[in-house]
Amino acid sequence: MANTSKKNSVVELTNIYLDHCATTPVHPEVVEAMLPYFRDFYGNPSSIHSFGRNAKEALTIAREKVAKLIGADPSEIVFTSGGTEADNLAILGVSSKFETKGNHIITSSIEHHAVLNTCRYLEQRGFAVTYLPVDGEGLVDPDDVARAISDRTTLISIMHANNEIGTIEPISKIADIAKEREIIFHTDAVQTAGKIPINVDLLNVDLLSLSGHKIYGPKGVGALYIRNGTHIVPVLYGGKQEGGLRHGTENVPAIVGLGKACEIVMKGKFSLNDTLGRLRSRLTKRILSAIDDVYINGHAEKCLSHILSVSIEGIEAESIVRELDKKGIAVSAGSACTSDSIEISHVITALGLPRHVAKGSIRFSLGQENTEEEVDYAANVLIEVVGKLRGMAELETSLNRGKCM
Ligand SMILES: *Cc1c(COP(=O)(O)O)cnc(C)c1O
Repeated sequence: MANTSKKNSVVELTNIYLDHCATTPVHPEVVEAMLPYFRDFYGNPSSIHSFGRNAKEALTIAREKVAKLIGADPSEIVFTSGGTEADNLAILGVSSKFETKGNHIITSSIEHHAVLNTCRYLEQRGFAVTYLPVDGEGLVDPDDVARAISDRTTLISIMHANNEIGTIEPISKIADIAKEREIIFHTDAVQTAGKIPINVDLLNVDLLSLSGHKIYGPKGVGALYIRNGTHIVPVLYGGKQEGGLRHGTENVPAIVGLGKACEIVMKGKFSLNDTLGRLRSRLTKRILSAIDDVYINGHAEKCLSHILSVSIEGIEAESIVRELDKKGIAVSAGSACTSDSIEISHVITALGLPRHVAKGSIRFSLGQENTEEEVDYAANVLIEVVGKLRGMAELETSLNRGKCM
């Protein structure tokens, strides 16, 4: 959302938000849809009086909208506090249910921390977890999945598309392998639901996570799709809401907002994807033509059109992010500079890039309010910043000091 004139391309723009994978602005129509559920229809959906019935009706409508987005039946949607809780419910809920049958889980090494750290917790509890590698473009090999399966495998969880590099995984192939072996299959679709068409039957998944705030909805709300007949137990215990799978009074305004967000993205019929794809290639071309030793991460075709991950050799990502921020541009870093070392993200690490390249990984993630003008400005500032930081890095090296540039 640029604050300045759209005509003059030399003026400095401000407030250019290119971090939509972290979160998105809430769509004005979503805000409007939510407000009455704070102000007027504040009943508890479990109450039998009219206040309660109004709130319950809102849940029903929102559930239908979320279900429609992914080709599910409304009875298969469980509302959660976000993508993280949906991932936790899927993984903890299935692994606990089948603990006596087996204790092996298969996932990938590039999952979101909501999946990875849940699996690490289960390892502490005695589970065995296989973290599959990916190739240089971030793809999981379905044959690797097949080979990793044992008699004790009860769950496979592979993300639909990665949030750092945008690579779209061969989910239906992996799901078919899981089905053949009668293993439950979960996918984290937080970055794809609402961005590309999804049908849970075509994908052949049993469980699928999505989140509100990545698709212009509010934070703190998401959903887990649970295919009818899938055995799973809850993680939270209480008042038996959400069919006994997610106890606790429902966040009615946020759920209404999530439903509205789903409706809006469906109305757009995913044309947004083409627009963002054009912006992304514009940005890519400018960067590649003006910066030496820069690499594009992720798969060239099997990728989300709103994500552009680049690795810039010889400089540190956090410095780039800070310099871009000074110029009003928000992007994110694929590495963090701690007191004595540079920590590179697990996703970038899994791609196998050399360290001096990996440490300069930044992510642009585009959204519906971005313009060509903003993208051009961001590219120009990046080119300038890289020149400056590379100059400084050379100086640092010649003076032989500074570990974290
Ligand atoms: C953001 C994100 C999550 C977490 O969702 P929250 O709603 O923020 O808890 C999980 N997985 C992926 C791929 C994400 O991008």
